Amino acid sequence: MTGRAELVSTISGRKYPFDRIEEFAENGESLEVSLPGLAHARPRSSPHLWERFGDFLPFPGMNPARSLGEGNTPLLPAGRQLHEWTGLPNLLLKNETQNPTWSFKDRGSLTCMFLADFLGERVAATISTGNMGHSLAAYGARAGVKVIVFVPGFAPREKVDAMAIHGATVLRVEAPDYSAMKRHVLGLAGALGVRIVSGNGPVRVEGYKLAAFELYEQMEGRVPDYIAVPTSACGHVRGIFKGYRELREAGLIRSLPRFIVVQARNNNPITGALKRGDEQIVPVTDVRTIAEAMTTGDPPGGEEVLRKARAFGWLGEDATEEEILESQRRLAAAGFFVEPAAATSLAAVRSLVRNRRIDPAATVVLMLTGSGLKDMDVLRHHACGARTSSLSTVASDLRAVLAERTSESPGTLPGH
Ligand SMILES: *Cc1c(COP(=O)(O)O)cnc(C)c1O
Repeated sequence: MTGRAELVSTISGRKYPFDRIEEFAENGESLEVSLPGLAHARPRSSPHLWERFGDFLPFPGMNPARSLGEGNTPLLPAGRQLHEWTGLPNLLLKNETQNPTWSFKDRGSLTCMFLADFLGERVAATISTGNMGHSLAAYGARAGVKVIVFVPGFAPREKVDAMAIHGATVLRVEAPDYSAMKRHVLGLAGALGVRIVSGNGPVRVEGYKLAAFELYEQMEGRVPDYIAVPTSACGHVRGIFKGYRELREAGLIRSLPRFIVVQARNNNPITGALKRGDEQIVPVTDVRTIAEAMTTGDPPGGEEVLRKARAFGWLGEDATEEEILESQRRLAAAGFFVEPAAATSLAAVRSLVRNRRIDPAATVVLMLTGSGLKDMDVLRHHACGARTSSLSTVASDLRAVLAERTSESPGTLPGH
């Protein structure tokens, strides 16, 4: 079916050629890949997910050498502590921190390289607070594609240095407003003849779709009631949704999951609008949140997500800075070390259960979008240093530790 793909503007339905460099329509609407014949699409057998679901993808000749082993991330029950804390016994965690560059962005970078191969592009540029740039840098290094990353002044060192060590050129752009900088840089694509991949671009969305196919396989065709997605540029939530919609179009599933769009309270252009019932995004200009992977205050294409939310009964919820830190700590205490952006969804589903907006019996999947190692600075908000000891005191120190009561009741021990 490749070769017949087109780009379609998600609101007006206007069509564009598949090889378009600009990632949005002239009127700012998001573009999305449209493939004919999905009703007859079928999973095949192959060790690679993108080949098994090749009927659903627009790239011909997907070269396995482009892969860094992304995806196949574990889907696990959240565990007793988190089941109790959220009130959701059927809470599942999709641990995206186990991707090659420790965030979900890697599936989108794989498809960026498939597209680069297909169109003969030798350069890929992006604008990123970190994870996207890091991911694209790694996949560019693997594929021999030159990568340029524009980062805002506040991008954390762990992420910037990670891009650089893969050989990407990093341009730190000092600008008061990240969204404005993004718009400006994206606008250069046509003039420079270079694709500047945005987090919400059609090629990323095709990659993020793969997460839906993984969930479909991991849940053996069952569809969860809800999937909670920490959201900034909107590519991830759009991608997972598009994957499920296409599975339904192919007749492989009957119902669609409902999405929970999650943001930080301090930067909630989408969840704010959803909670107020607004039809339009009110951009946030002075974005200040520890969830720095979610700092798009004026998401291009955000209105389209609002429309989808209304049409498909999605929910929106945001988390305060304190709730984000508490969720990060709770997840870590349950064995999952995630960055603040990824922790937002735990707080959000807890609020939704408490406000009776989701049924406690629902099956809910949380996308744990990125690793805690991505932002070490934020750990100063937690008590996580080492205790000091010495050879002369280590025995008594150990005795004191053993005498401390554990914070969890014996009921949380395995087998109880
Ligand atoms: C990119 C990112 C998000 C937001 O995803 P979008 O596709 O921009 O909506 C959330 N969490 C983490 C860790 C990210 O890297």
